[in-house]
Amino acid sequence: MQTLFTPDQLKDPAISISNDILRNCVHCGFCTATCPTYVLLGDELDSPRGRIYLIKNMLEGGKPATEKVVKHIDRCLTCLSCMTTCPSGVDYMHLVDHARNHIEKTYTRPLGDRLLRAILALIVPNPKLFRLALWGARLGQPFRALMPGRLKGMVDMAPARIHGPVAVDRPQIFPAEGKKRMRVALMTGCAQKVLRPAINEATVRLLNRHGCDVVIVSRDGCCGALVQHMGKEEAARQAARTNIAAWMGEVDGAGLDAIVINASGCGTTVKDYGHMLAEDAVWADRAKHIAGLTRDVSEVMCDLGIGPGKLASYPVVAYHSACSMQHGQKLIDGPKQLLRDAGFDVRDPAEGHLCCGSAGTYNMLQPALAERLKNRKVINLEDQNPDVIASGNIGCLVQISDGTNIPVVHTVELLDWASGGPKPAGLD
Ligand code: SF4
Ligand code: SF4
Repeated sequence: MQTLFTPDQLKDPAISISNDILRNCVHCGFCTATCPTYVLLGDELDSPRGRIYLIKNMLEGGKPATEKVVKHIDRCLTCLSCMTTCPSGVDYMHLVDHARNHIEKTYTRPLGDRLLRAILALIVPNPKLFRLALWGARLGQPFRALMPGRLKGMVDMAPARIHGPVAVDRPQIFPAEGKKRMRVALMTGCAQKVLRPAINEATVRLLNRHGCDVVIVSRDGCCGALVQHMGKEEAARQAARTNIAAWMGEVDGAGLDAIVINASGCGTTVKDYGHMLAEDAVWADRAKHIAGLTRDVSEVMCDLGIGPGKLASYPVVAYHSACSMQHGQKLIDGPKQLLRDAGFDVRDPAEGHLCCGSAGTYNMLQPALAERLKNRKVINLEDQNPDVIASGNIGCLVQISDGTNIPVVHTVELLDWASGGPKPAGLD
């Protein structure tokens, strides 16, 4: 694609990077077929190619974002399915990040939208506030039918049981069982430890059982993805710096073989810290080092090997590959192979490349589209007649659980159970 940025514009590193990305696009349109919003809406401007044109015109003109641009960029799930499909390697993720930051700086959203985004950016990354908000949402559930779509999305997120803090939330070291093979830090996250603390507990048990010392550091927090996807670039960078500082304490101390992440949305973001802080003279090298150490829990377990499980009988598992897992991190077969090695009968649903509609806060900001994607995903998963649905990202677990009576669990909960841990809640 030809671009017309001026030499002065290209002095801005962000414009220079976007210029290179835009020039890789050859307008072929292959990406449209696998874009969930284009599949649903059939509008070129809700396809990757259409959005790329909108972004190009907005950035080239150096103009404030228009309502039309904001509408179509807001509808993008950042699922990155287009990046998997694109034969030219167009880096849509960093292009849309730049566009969202430009929108945040130049466009004044309606008051309600601004308020909702500010509340989500404040509450979701803060476990104490998020826990309080979920209690509020539980109280609001009887009035759900009277609420507008966006509020419905928020009250739907409240789980049947709201958990208090658990032991794995506190800084400590969980020692390896038997011979030590690795020393890893587990990112305990923000929303996940409130919504489903059992995932971190299962992860620690699984890693300990397979020879890992698991370190929970103090002062790590939200990965920054939530604010990054809202265009709040500096807030995302600050979240990254906080985490890097927390983990570097261990790297420079007793050392770490890996930083393990069990929410693939967070993993995609932390693996990108090197890019996020590339222009930061103080943090760039450390960011690159931390990004290089970061691995999804399934990657670590593939290296360690799971071996045959100990269950008398195994449920049929429909595996939902989160977009951040398959498109963001390109981890496709590993999680399924681990489940199969442990003894589970794993089924792949149709349209596995399509997003479930969770996409961070998308189900609250774009509830109508998110609902359609959720229903479509649930139909495809239920078609496999599974006893349980498994995925590696908390957002997907919450979103899919909302549409089905089949239990939905994290992949590590099944691996932990098969290798000697407790049966995941809901499987009885
Ligand atoms: S990230 Fe997903 S929703 Fe956005 S343009 Fe790409 S495929 Fe479409
Ligand atoms: S598939 Fe890639 S090169 Fe083709 S239109 Fe989409 S982004 Fe551009």
